Amino acid sequence: MNSPVRAFLAVGGTPRFLTSARGPYLTDADGNEYVDLVCSWGPMILGHAHPAVVEAVQRAAARGTSYGAPTPGEVELAEEIVDRTPVEQVRLVNSGTEATMSAIRLARGFTGRSRVVKFAGCYHGHVDALLAAAGSGVATLALPDTPGVTGATTADTIVLPYNDVAAVEQAFAEHGHEIACVITEAVPCNMGVVPPLPDFNALLKRLCGQNGALLVIDEVLTGFRATRSGWYGAEGVAGDLMTFGKVMGGGLPAAAFGGRADVMGHLAPAGPVYQAGTLSGNPLATAAGLATLRNATDDVYAAIDDAAEVVSRAASEALLKEGVAHRLQVAGNLFSVFFAGEEVRDFAAAQKQDVKAYAAFFHAALERGVYLPPSAYEVWFLSAAHDDTAINRILDVLPHAARAAA
Ligand code: PLP
Repeated sequence: MNSPVRAFLAVGGTPRFLTSARGPYLTDADGNEYVDLVCSWGPMILGHAHPAVVEAVQRAAARGTSYGAPTPGEVELAEEIVDRTPVEQVRLVNSGTEATMSAIRLARGFTGRSRVVKFAGCYHGHVDALLAAAGSGVATLALPDTPGVTGATTADTIVLPYNDVAAVEQAFAEHGHEIACVITEAVPCNMGVVPPLPDFNALLKRLCGQNGALLVIDEVLTGFRATRSGWYGAEGVAGDLMTFGKVMGGGLPAAAFGGRADVMGHLAPAGPVYQAGTLSGNPLATAAGLATLRNATDDVYAAIDDAAEVVSRAASEALLKEGVAHRLQVAGNLFSVFFAGEEVRDFAAAQKQDVKAYAAFFHAALERGVYLPPSAYEVWFLSAAHDDTAINRILDVLPHAARAAA
């Protein structure tokens, strides 16, 4: 098992081993087909094996899989990102973890300060300094923190409750001159979807600016999915640095961090802050990412928005009919269903949900051919390939799943 949440630990049972995927469907090693509501944890906004992406990767592979030198493709992918988002310059890396790790190093190098503020329940990859109260994977395993991450590594990390304006103001009042950056998910999705309170991200931007700190907005999950410009397209708050991943790699390992040119100018080779990668900007990954973004038209986003609305409403109605306590939480086309009675505004509230009820819901859906995220703390991911046939299959299954959860 190469990534813990795949192990079905939170829901029990045996993980399915998948052998192929096409459009909105997955096929396992026993030949069973599922409608996919995980979409590889976000990247597959066009659906699986989209012909343009497959062709781009095949062509790239035929030209050689890696050169260890600059390529036109990585420049084109960077330009596509700059075109869609507020960032002025971009550095490509291989995973979201690398993107956030590097963004924090750069923020520290740029400001000459050590402390990093993060929010409980936000996940930024398995960066040591950020693995404190880190949302889904860690919550799923019921780990408060992670053995192997030393106290020294997290000594400069300040963890605050999400959406808590007073806590952020107090942290700046106490440590303002030591804070290099605040890192936040654009919309927290790794404790389930917890929308920022109106103006929360804008407040973070303002407080960072007033105190000489940088705001790092993590759009690894929301980037190029929530809208063509990510959550920025919905809310309009730009990070001084921003991180991207998932969709921009089209299912191959590619991620990025970028932001203000004066900050990015501190990166090696132009500046002193070291950051590197043998496979960064890999030709196959950039080809898959470019093909995905170039095919991610307004129609694609409209289709995902529509599918998300229909599926989320149907899930909530099915649970309501069976009297199952739940909260549907929505931010644009991102949604999750909390098996909890109260609105969830932070990680403490998210952890009060009934994970056993979710497990029953999950397995009833799986048995009937719908592959939900194997954890109650996740977004339900849709793609533009989820057509009426796929959506109707989900709608047929939801009442059975809701009955199992009752
Ligand atoms: N940041 C966010 C918001 C994420 O959702 C994730 C992964 O789920 C990451 C960072 C880490 O990305 P990766 O798994 O590619 O390292």
